Amino acid sequence: MSGLGPHGRSAASMAATLIDGKKIAQTIESEASEAVKRLGFAPGLVAVRVGNDPASEIYVRSKAKKAQELGLRGSERVFPETMTEAELLAEVERLNRDDEVDAILVQLPLPKQIDPQKVIDAIAPEKDVDGFHPINVGKLHLGRPTLAPCTPAGCIRLIDSTGVSIAGANAVVIGRSDIVGKPMAALLLQRNATVTICHSKTVDLAARVREAGIVVAAIGRPMTVTADMVRPGAVVIDVGTTRVDASFAARLAHDPDKSRLLAKNGSVLIGDVDFARVREVAGFITPVPGGVGPMTIAMLMKNTVTAAEWRRA
Ligand code: NAP
Repeated sequence: MSGLGPHGRSAASMAATLIDGKKIAQTIESEASEAVKRLGFAPGLVAVRVGNDPASEIYVRSKAKKAQELGLRGSERVFPETMTEAELLAEVERLNRDDEVDAILVQLPLPKQIDPQKVIDAIAPEKDVDGFHPINVGKLHLGRPTLAPCTPAGCIRLIDSTGVSIAGANAVVIGRSDIVGKPMAALLLQRNATVTICHSKTVDLAARVREAGIVVAAIGRPMTVTADMVRPGAVVIDVGTTRVDASFAARLAHDPDKSRLLAKNGSVLIGDVDFARVREVAGFITPVPGGVGPMTIAMLMKNTVTAAEWRRA
């Protein structure tokens, strides 16, 4: 026996190449920092947080800190859980008018008395570095230059890092949220992929995914994408992040790394893809953590620099 697998790859080389999101994020951050030096001024990013959601606190702090590290002016505005919608809209309006502020982001989720859509709509589109404003969403879908949402824009960079051509590829995006799935599909279409968007009502998800040379999973349901669904050699980007506890131990038994972390810490972060098995089939795959996650903040820094360049041009 030659030891070759069904697709001509030897058993030893069957495992997919890991896409190192941390390393690629560092490259983007260096690009952003170089661009700041060229600009000759420090673009201003203001991250607004309302309430005490612990996850939001960590995200916002890390965004402001990263901005400072790269030579931007990153700051955090924190308001109490009881803030009214009118007060937040007034704050956004104030930041819109402040010429020193190039980029505004309002961390979601917001307390229940505040309609997030109204707040997103109130941010000046040229300062909307999350790319959520309807004007920016419209431009994205028209294929015009705009500030694209950070997570899907980061996924595009991860796919590009593999050298696999997006143009002409069958790309399947699982998930159709406004922040990940829909903009991901628009970005892939812009790059001339043939795009299929799947969601909870899709009939025979496995058959759709099997057609894909590029799979982006943004579902929020751990281990939904299994090895039998993935075409050999496909690029698999796992956006999902779910922290699971000991009740997941049996489902993770085949994954020694995750099982060890689960036993040690009582919980472990996993993605929408059954990583241990899919990596034996895919050509390229992102780990969770260390894949898509680091790209989101890096792309936010890049968007901040772009917003400053465009606004002050
Ligand atoms: P979301 O708004 O909950 O959207 C989930 C999407 O998945 C929906 O479109 C839903 O379909 C679809 N879906 C649910 N169950 C499905 C199933 N069984 N088969 C096919 N599709 C299914 O979530 P999101 O905000 O896009 O986030 C998705 C995941 O990415 C989450 O785990 C989130 O934590 C993670 N995330 C990570 C980052 C990062 O930086 N790493 C950034 C953003 C999000 P319907 O529309 O039909 O309900």
